[in-house]
Amino acid sequence: AHSKLYLGLDFGTSGARAVAINDAGEVLAGAKQMYGNKAAADWPAEWHRALRALLSELGREVCAGVAAAAFDGTSSTALLVNTADAGAVAAGGAHLAAPKLYNEAQAREVVERAKAMAPAKHTATAASSTLCKLLAWDADGVWQQAQARGGQPRLLHHADWLAALLHGRWAASDWNNCLKLGFDPAAEAFPGWLTSQPFAGLLPAEVNAPGAPVAPVTAQVAAATGLSEDCLICAGTTDSIAAFMAAGVRRPGEAVTSLGSTLAVKLLSGTRVNDAATGVYSHRLGDTWLVGGASNTGGAVLRHYFSNERIAALTPRLRPDVPTGLDYYPLLRPGERFPVADPALAPRLEPRPSDDALFLQGLLEGMTAVEARAYAVLAAMGATPLTQVYTAGGGARNAAWTQMRQRLLG
Ligand code: ADP
Repeated sequence: AHSKLYLGLDFGTSGARAVAINDAGEVLAGAKQMYGNKAAADWPAEWHRALRALLSELGREVCAGVAAAAFDGTSSTALLVNTADAGAVAAGGAHLAAPKLYNEAQAREVVERAKAMAPAKHTATAASSTLCKLLAWDADGVWQQAQARGGQPRLLHHADWLAALLHGRWAASDWNNCLKLGFDPAAEAFPGWLTSQPFAGLLPAEVNAPGAPVAPVTAQVAAATGLSEDCLICAGTTDSIAAFMAAGVRRPGEAVTSLGSTLAVKLLSGTRVNDAATGVYSHRLGDTWLVGGASNTGGAVLRHYFSNERIAALTPRLRPDVPTGLDYYPLLRPGERFPVADPALAPRLEPRPSDDALFLQGLLEGMTAVEARAYAVLAAMGATPLTQVYTAGGGARNAAWTQMRQRLLG
């Protein structure tokens, strides 16, 4: 007898992955597809190709056992499709414009309009937010022209669109993907400053809790892929939230620090915390909140002074148990967002000792202090206090740094 399988589909920036687990959480099958080097010419076609390839790589036998599936996609990647063209949209077409990708900053006029609309410093007013992408299309008249021709334009996020290819519901999304569009996850609704806009008809009509069942796959998809007609497609999330969940975080107080080019923290909290001044906001996951903040310090400062090889060579000479007392605040240029909001905060990187190992230790200690302060500030804002930290990013491989962090974070 087949045990039930649950399928997770991750569409990231460079490729897509699928993993099938059973009730015990054991990984029973997986597949991976990198996007081709001509992908940028037609992203939807490439995402659609990758999806079909993942399912065919898993094979019909695995697909037949899948009870439920969900997608994550890149956060604030937006698509505009004409859902009135049922056949074309189900086949992956009917796009009214090229998708706007997660990292595409929109023009200043558009950002100004978002700021005039939304509450001050709302996450939807960032230049690359989904709201700004929608406003850019609005300014170009793209959806208005489609509607005048009898079309039914809809905005979809990356994950929404992929899920809709399987379940055929073109107005369904989730709390997490909709946050940067302006959705209020506490009220579980789009606020009045959005629903009163002329483009309100483009917003997802059904914004579900991440993981909540949405609809079974269509009969055509079942026939083409081997997925069962009972296979439920569930509401998705963003790629960074999926990565956070995949780190193994389960209980409030558990967190992930990302030590990549920038230092970012994400904490699972029993309470919601938003602070416009420091750019801290909360994603909703069931009855808990994923609270995040990002500093301007991080590995980019290390990279400015040292190659990865040089760091690796100096690391054995670090003395985590003997603090340098250098008290650095490592920044490449003035300005910090979080844990302190100060656009003029000056880098503090002097004096520089002649011994590079000492200098490196000072840099790592400075970033450790920022990390500790970040969690302390979140707790002071009312978030659940830190109990356990998982680490992601290039800095995670440095055991000496981990020791410094253990000392300071407790
Ligand atoms: P990105 O955010 O660019 O994806 P990564 O997660 O790949 O970054 O991390 C890269 C960063 O990790 C670089 O800034 C680099 O300085 C830093 N790094 C690489 N090796 C080490 C090391 N052994 N110890 C501390 N930091 C390191």
